[in-house]
Amino acid sequence: MNLILLGAPGAGKGTQAEAISAKLGIPQISTGNMLREAVKNGTELGLRAKAAMDSGDLVSDEIVIGILKDRIAEPDAANGFILDGFPRTVAQAEALDSMGVRIDTVLEVYVPDERICARMSGRRVCEGCGASYHIEYKPTTEPGICDKCGCKTVQRADDSPETVLSRLEVYKEKTAPLKDYYAQTGKLVTVTGQEEVADTTKLVFEALGIAD
Ligand code: AMP
Repeated sequence: MNLILLGAPGAGKGTQAEAISAKLGIPQISTGNMLREAVKNGTELGLRAKAAMDSGDLVSDEIVIGILKDRIAEPDAANGFILDGFPRTVAQAEALDSMGVRIDTVLEVYVPDERICARMSGRRVCEGCGASYHIEYKPTTEPGICDKCGCKTVQRADDSPETVLSRLEVYKEKTAPLKDYYAQTGKLVTVTGQEEVADTTKLVFEALGIAD
């Protein structure tokens, strides 16, 4: 199954992608996680992406299309994958089409704007493996320590209140048009993010036809 997760920053795409990945045994491919890793390691790619990421802008289509193309060619993606945070522009969606990638479902996780800011202030990510947490809705078992790999969890620099607003603007202007793009193909399904992660996951699994 090849899936795309669509939704505003902070809507819970990463968390739901992790749940689907665990259920179906296919990788979660997060361009944001890959870019953060590149920034952390100070690679050339990271240096090129950092300024845009810090200000809440999108990294250039050319850069992200390049890393995505390499990633989906890896063996673990041969039986399916979950794209989390890609595509984010119509140009990226068109690039995916021209690579000949078949998409089964585009799942939108919808959360109203007024709830996005509160969600993002409590969000934490693992410095090591990139796993997503929330201090209220999805806390780590031991405070500040990732349940999966034992590394430290931190707040993302771009989750500060000023950057969150500009990221929401960018989402509306550049990414939300993808809803129409995929609605036309009949592959778009929308699930509303709930207070409890498990409740959203239940709706997501039902929408994908993978509930027990
Ligand atoms: P995310 O973790 O998906 O919220 O991504 C964090 C940041 O990485 C975004 O605010 C962008 O600056 C950059 N980024 C991630 N994915 C993409 C993409 N598909 N296109 C452009 N920029 C991206």
